[in-house]
Amino acid sequence: MLEPTNLIYGHSQEVPTRRGPTPYINFDNAASTPPFTRVMEALCREARWYASVHRGAGYKSQYSTQLYEAARQSVGKFVGVDFDHDVVIFTKNTTDSLNKLSHYLPFLSGEQVVYTGVEHHSNELPWASKDSYCIGLDGYQINLAETESYFQANAGRIKLLAVSGASNVTGYIPPIYTLAEIAHRAGAKILVDAAQLAAHHPIDVLPPSDPRHLDFVAFSAHKMYAPFGVGVLIGPREIFRHTPPSQVGGGTVQGIGPAGVVWSEPPDVEEAGSPNVLGAVALAEALKVFREIGWDSIIENEKILIRRTLEILRELPDVTLYNPDPDNRVGVISFNVAGHHHLEVAQYLAEEWGIGVRSGCFCARSYVQRLLNLTPTAIYSAQKKIINHQPQLVPGLVRVSFGCYNQLHEVEKLAQALAEFQSRC
Ligand code: PMP
Repeated sequence: MLEPTNLIYGHSQEVPTRRGPTPYINFDNAASTPPFTRVMEALCREARWYASVHRGAGYKSQYSTQLYEAARQSVGKFVGVDFDHDVVIFTKNTTDSLNKLSHYLPFLSGEQVVYTGVEHHSNELPWASKDSYCIGLDGYQINLAETESYFQANAGRIKLLAVSGASNVTGYIPPIYTLAEIAHRAGAKILVDAAQLAAHHPIDVLPPSDPRHLDFVAFSAHKMYAPFGVGVLIGPREIFRHTPPSQVGGGTVQGIGPAGVVWSEPPDVEEAGSPNVLGAVALAEALKVFREIGWDSIIENEKILIRRTLEILRELPDVTLYNPDPDNRVGVISFNVAGHHHLEVAQYLAEEWGIGVRSGCFCARSYVQRLLNLTPTAIYSAQKKIINHQPQLVPGLVRVSFGCYNQLHEVEKLAQALAEFQSRC
């Protein structure tokens, strides 16, 4: 087990509950993780120096430029980027990365994007508005047989397969390397939305010559123990070259003349305006901490928590689990308690026990609707019926999600809390 007190900034702060103040248990890491203490120290250290990058001759500007570009290198190394082929673009978050990419892929008539039934809205909506096809589900997993046959039947026509690296609803890890092979065989590229994967498992984009190469990868710093405001988009340098960027402004042009605009080279062309230098520094420091902890410890700790939580939920009566697999997943576990609305469970855990979980649809309504066997518009219809803010009408799930610092005793407290909930209600 990892020792959280020094690792996490502000760990175990007390929060008010109906029973008095209690140390907070954060089981909502899929939404955002708290920062590493080292990240906050790096922020304070470097905040004395930060300045606008790429522009000034002064020491501060030079220093900040060097920090910012070093952070870019660290991010690339973290996922095995070949900088001769790929570029690391700093964005605001995963959502920003995916929207940027949707701008860059000029969908010619007859070309298609394929996404899957497990996607977060951020990796569904940018594609759903284009000529696209959504791969269906086999239970809570992507239907691989359908994926194979669809790509075979439409080889040459599909431009991109957009898929989650791990689901923010069920924790399910799609077989991204197999999917990369399927996409490449059909002449398409693959995009991995790694928002939920990056803090839980190592990602290797692999060399571009490898059929399992991941062409595009996106993730967010605030799910990796660094603050909000920085995301990453990785992809082939060539794609971002010579096209007007998704946002124009300072840094995006080399020159403007009678013959038109000469755009900057990537990544600059996609980073309009003054960038979030401190955010990039924070992310780079978080990645350093990941390396020092080591993936083996992170994965092992999470496995222990996952196994015990699944055991607890299986032993409780009237609990439905939406992904019971102890392996091939990250520590995102969703369930429902029969006869109780998801919000009722979440509020009980928070207000009585100081345990923070999330409830609802987690910005993945299509997936949640399928998991609950609802009609495709059920959640939308329920939401439209909300009068006086009564979310009780909207279907959804309860979600427990772990960070690398969570402890078994916290899971035992969750077990106690849920048992009490069932005996009281
Ligand atoms: N994709 C997945 C799978 C996610 O879980 C999230 C965040 N919940 C996002 C995309 C969007 O991330 P962000 O809010 O940082 O843009």
